Amino acid sequence: MNETESILAPSTGTEDLVESAWLHSCPSCGSRDLELFYEVRGIPANSCLLFDDRQQAIDCPKSNIGLTYCRDCDFVFNAEFDARQMEYSGRYEETQGFSQTFSRFHRQLAAEMIERHDLHEREVMEVGCGKGEFLVLLSQMGENRGVGVDPSAIPERLEGIDGAERVTLIPEYFLPEHCRTEPDFLCCKMTLEHISDTAQFISTIRKGLTAAKGTVVFFQVPEAHRILSECAFEDIYHEHCSYFTGYSLGRLFQSCGFRVTRTAQEYDDQYLTIEAVADDSAQSVSELPDRGDMAALVSSFPERLAEKRDYWRTMIRQAKEQGQRVVLWGSGSKAVSLLTTMGVSELVDCVTDINPNRQGYFMPGTGHEIVPPSALAEIKPDLVIAMNRIYRDEIQAELDGLGITCRLECL
Ligand SMILES: [Zn+2]
Repeated sequence: MNETESILAPSTGTEDLVESAWLHSCPSCGSRDLELFYEVRGIPANSCLLFDDRQQAIDCPKSNIGLTYCRDCDFVFNAEFDARQMEYSGRYEETQGFSQTFSRFHRQLAAEMIERHDLHEREVMEVGCGKGEFLVLLSQMGENRGVGVDPSAIPERLEGIDGAERVTLIPEYFLPEHCRTEPDFLCCKMTLEHISDTAQFISTIRKGLTAAKGTVVFFQVPEAHRILSECAFEDIYHEHCSYFTGYSLGRLFQSCGFRVTRTAQEYDDQYLTIEAVADDSAQSVSELPDRGDMAALVSSFPERLAEKRDYWRTMIRQAKEQGQRVVLWGSGSKAVSLLTTMGVSELVDCVTDINPNRQGYFMPGTGHEIVPPSALAEIKPDLVIAMNRIYRDEIQAELDGLGITCRLECL
């Protein structure tokens, strides 16, 4: 056993987990020069699944995080990710479309893509299209014809929506055959971070495309340098097994037969985007972003994370000691991560969410009920913790509208 393997060998008491695929090489570049730097055990495997029964929510399937850094390509991944536990069916409720801030961002992104790539009456494809909102925007704003591939797609939800008549949703996992009509534009937003075999996935996309067609490929993922530098623990959860920087993402695309044409950070630097085109030439060299200080961020991560956890724990504990009511705003994966990794779940009274499709359900792992914001008028929270500071103004306006005076803190 070499040094890397001994670092990655799980500690005692996890024999049943050893047989679950503990990755010993980087799924993006194949290197074995790896460093395990953050572990969490027994957290919900699926943080976006909705449960209509509190006990079922508490008893949901659990898994582990073993966050691992590749010293060769800067890719960060969960070496303990258990793909067998994942479920991306219609029960998976990921849409952020009920937030005005997010909808505005989505519209801007569609407008930007249409303009930069001249997408008018063209064939567009989205891999991991969710419920198809972005394809509908590309159809509405550029009269494009869209094909969306996603096992959690629900085609019926698009019925009657203006522009949706040009959009076809295929509730399946992506295969190169889906590109039989080769698209002019292929996008994949907030999906690659859910995929553990990253090189295989990008190669599969590449197989559906030809260099001659010149399809523009656009990917968007959470940006990992920010997650590590801010110790954004709420952005680390089992569903997200793959974490990219501009460098590691660019390198992956290049190694899978793409030429990278653009990388950028958006949405308050939370998202990383990349644009690339299929390229057959072996000599093709993309200009990749600088590697930055990832290695240093990885080694200081545990200590900085402990400090940040203490800060939030103390705040929530002090509020409860004063008899205050504590509510989380946002019931998605960030809230699941906070509730299940901070040791404060019993101190949080409830969780609210503006997405009506989530209200009335229970949080995986802890069983907190998800209530509509209107219910807060009766709950009268003293401390509201928002899961994303980008929504601060929107949430404050909602609270004001409900006549609630309380302290609003944002992760
Ligand atoms: Zn690597």
